[in-house]
Amino acid sequence: MNASLKVPRGRLLGSSGIAISPIAWGMWRFAEDGRSPAEAARLVHAALDAGITLLDTADIYGFNGHGGFGEAESLLGKVLKLEPELRERMVLASKGGITPPLPYNQSASYLASAIDASLRRLNCATIDLYQIHRPDILTHPQEVARTLDDAVAAGKIRTIGASNFTTAQIEALNHFLGHELVATQPEISPLRITCFENGELDQAMRLGLTPFAWSPLGGGALLAPKSARDRAVASQLDQIAKEQGVSRSVAAYGWLMAHPAGIVPIIGSQNTARIAEGAQALTMQWTRQDWYAVLVAARGEELP
Ligand code: NAP
Repeated sequence: MNASLKVPRGRLLGSSGIAISPIAWGMWRFAEDGRSPAEAARLVHAALDAGITLLDTADIYGFNGHGGFGEAESLLGKVLKLEPELRERMVLASKGGITPPLPYNQSASYLASAIDASLRRLNCATIDLYQIHRPDILTHPQEVARTLDDAVAAGKIRTIGASNFTTAQIEALNHFLGHELVATQPEISPLRITCFENGELDQAMRLGLTPFAWSPLGGGALLAPKSARDRAVASQLDQIAKEQGVSRSVAAYGWLMAHPAGIVPIIGSQNTARIAEGAQALTMQWTRQDWYAVLVAARGEELP
């Protein structure tokens, strides 16, 4: 039996009813290279025109260790000032709760002010998905939940997500939330497969969370593999990519999307052609045999 695995064409954002594209575009690297608002707008258009409607940013993006906190949000805000109609075409996700260089603050007063600051920078009335970027161990989840619920009630954010949380941290935050989590955002790629077996994706399926995969190409490492294991993963993806007439990066996105949790890979490229190319992942057909061959290469050992 070698039937294709089913990959749905559209996705809903958790239980929210908000329709999202099955592949997202991320703006971690958006404010690098002194990009002008007009150049930045071209990247936004490349994503939207390719049918990629979920755009993921964070207040910390742009921070390079010396400053620049908020720059990626501000740049998107400038794009939206130039072309306000783009806001209607996107589902806008952002994140907060990290205060560099000293990390992690989700106290009620800080988190509420961070949400307001993101809205100001983004030039928006509301953020569709607000994610806690990384958990703050020093804030009780009940306090975090109350701040986020208040922000939903005020119309500042529409839905809530968590990134880089353990399964227990997700469970604890969700327990206190009135407006329960709709998304999670761990690192997942053919080079980073811990989620497949540590319960995070099982929990996402059980709770109906949309799992967004950050760094789906290992931050670019999959395109320049160094170790024997990474080269084996790349070579396995290349074989399938060649058969289906796509690139290695598209095969990596497709591999993630074939998982039953409905993983949404976040494309990290800031190159218009590479962003648009990502949408080809929807054309891929995966057999169990091909899918598991990539997993085995990533594990570095046969399955039992
Ligand atoms: P990635 O897709 O794993 O890596 C993208 C990098 O690979 C870019 O520098 C890109 O360069 C490079 N690349 C080289 N060849 C490429 C090719 N053929 N196709 C595509 N990219 C190629 O993703 P990422 O940028 O590390 O992360 C993606 C998104 O995940 C971020 O934007 C952010 O939204 C999210 N993220 C979240 C967290 C978190 O803690 N929640 C952490 C990290 C990232 P070019 O731009 O030149 O194409």
